[in-house]
Amino acid sequence: MAGRIIDADVAHIRDTSRIDDVVADYVQLKIAGGGQKKGLCPFHDEKSPSFHVTPSKGYYHCFGCQTGGDVISFVMKIEHLSFTEAVERLADRMNYQLNYESSSDSSPRISGSERKRVLEANKLAAAFYKEQLNGPGPAQVGREFLKQRGFDRAAAESFGVGYAPDEWDALSKHLKAKGFTDAELEMAGLTKEGQRGFIDRFRNRLIWPIHEISGDVVGFGARKLSEEDTGPKYLNTSETIVYKKSALLYGLDIAKKEIAKTRQVVVVEGYTDVMAAHLAGVTTAVATCGTAFGDEHIRILRRLLMDDDSFRGEVIFTFDGDAAGQKAAMRAFGDDQKFVTQTFVAVEPNGLDPCDLRIKSGDAAVRDLVAKRVPLFEFAIKTHLKNYDLATAEGRVAGLRESAPLVAKIRDRSLRPEYTRALAGWLGMDIESVRDAVRDAGGRNSGGRESARAPRPDQASPTITLEREALKIILQQPAVSTLWSEIEARDFSDPLYEAIRTLIGGGLQNPAQLIENQDEVIQGLLRELLVEPIQTGEINQRYAESVFARLREVSLTRQVAEIKSKLQRIDPEEEQYMGIFGELVALEAKRRALHDLGLGELAF
Ligand SMILES: [Zn+2]
Repeated sequence: MAGRIIDADVAHIRDTSRIDDVVADYVQLKIAGGGQKKGLCPFHDEKSPSFHVTPSKGYYHCFGCQTGGDVISFVMKIEHLSFTEAVERLADRMNYQLNYESSSDSSPRISGSERKRVLEANKLAAAFYKEQLNGPGPAQVGREFLKQRGFDRAAAESFGVGYAPDEWDALSKHLKAKGFTDAELEMAGLTKEGQRGFIDRFRNRLIWPIHEISGDVVGFGARKLSEEDTGPKYLNTSETIVYKKSALLYGLDIAKKEIAKTRQVVVVEGYTDVMAAHLAGVTTAVATCGTAFGDEHIRILRRLLMDDDSFRGEVIFTFDGDAAGQKAAMRAFGDDQKFVTQTFVAVEPNGLDPCDLRIKSGDAAVRDLVAKRVPLFEFAIKTHLKNYDLATAEGRVAGLRESAPLVAKIRDRSLRPEYTRALAGWLGMDIESVRDAVRDAGGRNSGGRESARAPRPDQASPTITLEREALKIILQQPAVSTLWSEIEARDFSDPLYEAIRTLIGGGLQNPAQLIENQDEVIQGLLRELLVEPIQTGEINQRYAESVFARLREVSLTRQVAEIKSKLQRIDPEEEQYMGIFGELVALEAKRRALHDLGLGELAF
């Protein structure tokens, strides 16, 4: 930033800018009597004018929305500028030369005139590049590049896209002929010192002018067009007195009004994405200029999204490619969770960026992409869950173990219950288990102990006891087990028991034969099951059948839960939904029938 504008100059600008002239650039004013003028307020929607301007006193006031102030605050508010920018804008308007205080003795003094010269050089450079794009020869490669990305001549023109000729000093010559010195051009970042004097910074590249929020061109982004060019794919203006990449957003000058109005900003990744988004009707799109999205960018956007001192609105990021999840997670669960609740993510399922998406599927698809945004936390957590098969109990438990710590990491405690509830839905698990897991994860130190592996089969579990009882019956008294054929391998939740069910098959002739050729674990288990007493002491048909029926019922209950969990994760609009729903209804009916059999007094 330039130094502070000296107080005397600020006062001069305030006193000599005619507020009614300045306002008249935006609002049609009529004489209102009493030396006042009035018009329709630019800051709120109204049908009859309540926006008053008092030229003699230099201030404005709206009786509708209670906005008011002097000429500088009007420019700040309507153009979304900082104080200094607004004063500079007004000074330019009246062609006044501002003076700046240098912020410290050591920092180079930046005079208003230097700034003005740099901006002027940039403006002329932008016009020069733009004209070159229409020229013959190599510029055609640039035009072809734009065409392939879906941008016709009108689109390129409206964004001021240009071409830097494949010459050492085409731009320098042009600007020096207009009176600029080598020092000025270097200060503007348009040239750099080569072995034999100054050369143009951008050569044989497609050029995007980068505007400050006020609309001034402060620098350029340039893409290489030739394979022989050994430079980076994108080259930007280096830092200058007006080009501060950490505080610049490409497209902000054209997007700012919509951003303020809709309280939404869409952050895309490149210049062509900004163009594609705007052309597709997403007129709040901006991109950083060769740097990551940072605090300075947020600070600038805040000014547009601010409302009565509170930050409202949505910052939507379109991340493309595989790194999307990682980027989102970093942003979501990093140390700094500022504005994270207003942050959303829009990711195209095939990893297309807005520019490619527009080429492939048209404008509506780009608008759709933004419309289908999801909150950052949701996206980050769901990205983690993708690694698990949530159709299985094991997958859900592992998914919960992985994602509960994320919910616990959300700084804003008031959001945790909501995300706990949401996580239960995404996993298809009951909220109590998820709440417990989140609480445990929050209490645990960041090192996090891994839960010890449960010994298998877990004798304490009623389901396992039931499964074990069923296997004892079939192994010890095959004759009474008429319902055995109904029992499937998947009715056993324990993998070892499931394996034994498969081994037994349709019936059992000789247990000793079965034990042969098995691995030690299965052998040991089979021996136990062959001798361990049945819980009732004596096996009869009624007991056997009630155990098998109960086993089926528990298994069906588990399957119903899995299907319900699956349904929770499927959009009801999707085709498969009805099919799975039908499956659920059938399972429920079977389960009820089993239950109604009247199962005696089982302890399971
Ligand atoms: Zn108003």
